Parts: sequence; structure tokens; C-alpha cells
Amino acid sequence: MSVDIDCVVVGAGVVGLAVAREMALAGHEVLVIEAGEAIGIGTSSRNSEVIHAGIYYPPGSLKARLCVEGRPALYAYCDSHGVSTRKTGKLIVAKDEAQVRQLEVLLERGRVNGVEDLRLLDREQALALEPALECSAALYSPSTGIVDSHGLMLALQGDAEAAGTTIAFHAPLINAQVTADGFLLNVGGTAPMALSCRLLINAAGLHAPALARRMEGLPQQTVPQDYLCKGSYFSLAKRAPFTHLIYPAPEAAGLGVHMTLDLGGQARFGPDTEWVEAEDYRVDPSRANAFYSAIRSYWPGLPDNSLQPGYSGIRPKISAPGEPASDFLISSERLHNVPGLINLFGIESPGLTSCLAIAKRVRELLER
Ligand SMILES: Cc1cc2nc3c(=O)[nH]c(=O)nc-3n(C[C@H](O)[C@H](O)[C@H](O)COP(=O)(O)OP(=O)(O)OC[C@H]3O[C@@H](n4cnc5c(N)ncnc54)[C@H](O)[C@@H]3O)c2cc1C
Repeated sequence: MSVDIDCVVVGAGVVGLAVAREMALAGHEVLVIEAGEAIGIGTSSRNSEVIHAGIYYPPGSLKARLCVEGRPALYAYCDSHGVSTRKTGKLIVAKDEAQVRQLEVLLERGRVNGVEDLRLLDREQALALEPALECSAALYSPSTGIVDSHGLMLALQGDAEAAGTTIAFHAPLINAQVTADGFLLNVGGTAPMALSCRLLINAAGLHAPALARRMEGLPQQTVPQDYLCKGSYFSLAKRAPFTHLIYPAPEAAGLGVHMTLDLGGQARFGPDTEWVEAEDYRVDPSRANAFYSAIRSYWPGLPDNSLQPGYSGIRPKISAPGEPASDFLISSERLHNVPGLINLFGIESPGLTSCLAIAKRVRELLER
């Protein structure tokens, strides 16, 4: 079977769904093709569900701009669509003078990024908010919060479908070919088909670079090398004595083993960082040892034997181990010279927070 369609989005994670909604609301005929059996089976359901403020990212980067733009848009969207969020606030804690300097740098960077409400707290002020905490100082971010990520994806799917989008499951894009007026797509799965489309958005998450390498006619030097950086989580058997999210000073490849809460108030710790070769989501229970020491640096009261293996996610990295974290790469015609194509590479954290802003950016690039 061969079908013509205006716009095809590959992947029904939070970013693919947000892009499909944005494109459909702008009047495009949209088809989402998803390899799996449901929405959000990839990284979008394997993360911390934190709505980030926009503190960490280099000023001017897409991560900084789209997070700061995406955060209020996401709170407002969730409010208007009955998706649960909670502005818990967050404390980034320093355990020594060197880390206090790091917090001062983060405070300044956050302000430059447009995060206006950050406050540096001394030890007493931090302990007044969280008496079980141990720290020398803390950076307080009141606008950080948590979101029901699955509820968010259902709302995005609902909006996209109400605006005419079709979502096909068990429909992996095998390969694609650039043509004179768009793309020819070879879709596998339970009902294999050939599709032609004018606009193509690759939102395949971890698989986006590999998929782009299977696009005939796309200059291959525009496809970055991909790396997988796994993050495991452990959950706490009892209730944590915290009401804010607690983060240590950030590490090279991630934000450090932090404590987040889900909307039911259950605490989870993670993600750690482990560079891996293949997608394997099992959590190795022996990684708990490193968690105990990392967590006790800010919560000395963590009881023995209280952590249980939880789940894991894999960061879709496009920077190698040891390199500085790369920015989101929204690869459009300006970079690869193929009209109508957007490849979304390296959409790691804060991709959930930024999903609506990324979607808007994709539409603007395609409409330009
Ligand atoms: C450990 C961890 C913690 C994180 N914490 C946060 C956080 O607290 N806050 C935050 O803002 N962000 C966070 N993030 C980032 C956030 O989760 C991601 O940026 C976001 O989920 C990416 O969504 P996506 O739609 O691009 O990818 P995915 O959710 O991975 O979706 C991609 C989809 O494409 C499909 N697919 C793949 N190949 C094909 C193909 N060939 N054909 C058809 N379909 C295909 C997959 O099945 C999948 O459903 C975290 C990420 C990780 C790994």
C-alpha cells in the first residue's frame, strides 16, 4: 500500500506527541508512526518527571532557552488540561566551600538564563526548610516542580488526535529516501506500507541518529555519533523526610544522585551515570552501595537497607564520555540542506520540560 500524507512524525514519546499536536493545530495533516505498542514507551516514561527551572545549561544554548520558555508553557498547559503538577521547589546543596562556589556560579548562570527567582540560602535557612538535610549552603529554586508525565502524554495525544492526527502503532520506520518533493518512507511492522510525505520529523529519541543514518539523500556528516548513558533509580522503602526535591552539586554527565518525589509523595533517588553499549533497563542492585554514600552526603539519616532497585532510563547522548554535555541538536534544512526534514538529536534532560517549546521551534523551522 502507498499513502501520501503532509507531515509524518516518527516516535510517540513526549517530544513526538508535542510536535504532532503543534503541527496539527497549525493545520497540517499529521501521521505519527510509532515502533512500539503504545505512547511513551521510551525515555519519556523513564525519567525523573521534574519540571526544570533552567539553571544548569550554558547561556544562549537551546537547552537554556527552550527550558526557560518551556517551563511556564508546560505548567499552564497542564493546568488547562487537568494534568497533575506540583511546584515542590528544589534545593541544590553544597557540602563544602568548593561546592558553595559552584552554587554561586549556578545562581549567576540561572539568572543569565532568565530564572529570576533563585536564592542562595545559608545552612540555617536551608535547614529551616528541610531539617533532615546536611549542607553548608543551598541554592533554592521555587519554580522547579514535578509532573505526571504519562498524563501529559495522554493530553498531548488527545489534542493531536482532536486536531486530526492519526497515530499508527507497531509501525517502525525502517528507512527513508529524500525525493524531489519530500520523502519516501518504508514502514515495517504488522502492516508494512510505503508512505510519501512532504514534511518529516525524526523524534525517535535514542534511535534518532541511527534512523537518520538510514535516510538516503541526507548528508551523513550532519548525523552525530550517538552514545548511551544509563541512569538507574532506587526507591525508598519508607517516606522521605523531605518536601522539596534535593539535588547535590551537578556532576560531569548528569545532575548527580538526587531525590525526587512522585505525585504520591514517594521518594526516589537517581539517576546515576553509567555509559553502556546497548539498551538494557535492568537495575543492578549492587549499584545501591554508591547510592548510600552519595545520598548520605546530604541526608546522613538515610537508614541502612532502605533502598530498593527501581527503574532506569537511558540518556540519548551525542557527546562522548568525558566531553562536555552537548546541546539539543534540532537539525533542520539550514544544517543539512534537505527541505522539510527535522532530525531531533540529543534530546536528553530537560527534554520533558521543554517539549512544548521544542515543538514550537520545530514548526517555526518548517514554516520558515
Ligand atoms: C534518566 C533520565 C532522567 C530524565 N529526567 C528528566 C527530567 O526530570 N525532566 C526533564 O525535563 N527531562 C528529563 N529527561 C529527559 C526526557 O525524559 C527526554 O528528553 C524526553 O523523554 C525525550 O522524549 P522523546 O520523545 O524525544 O524520546 P522517547 O520518549 O525515547 O520517544 C521516542 C519514541 O520513538 C520510537 N521510535 C524509535 N525508533 C523508531 C522508528 N524507527 N520508527 C518509529 N518509532 C520509533 C520509540 O519507540 C519511542 O517511543 C530525563 C532523561 C533520562 C534518560
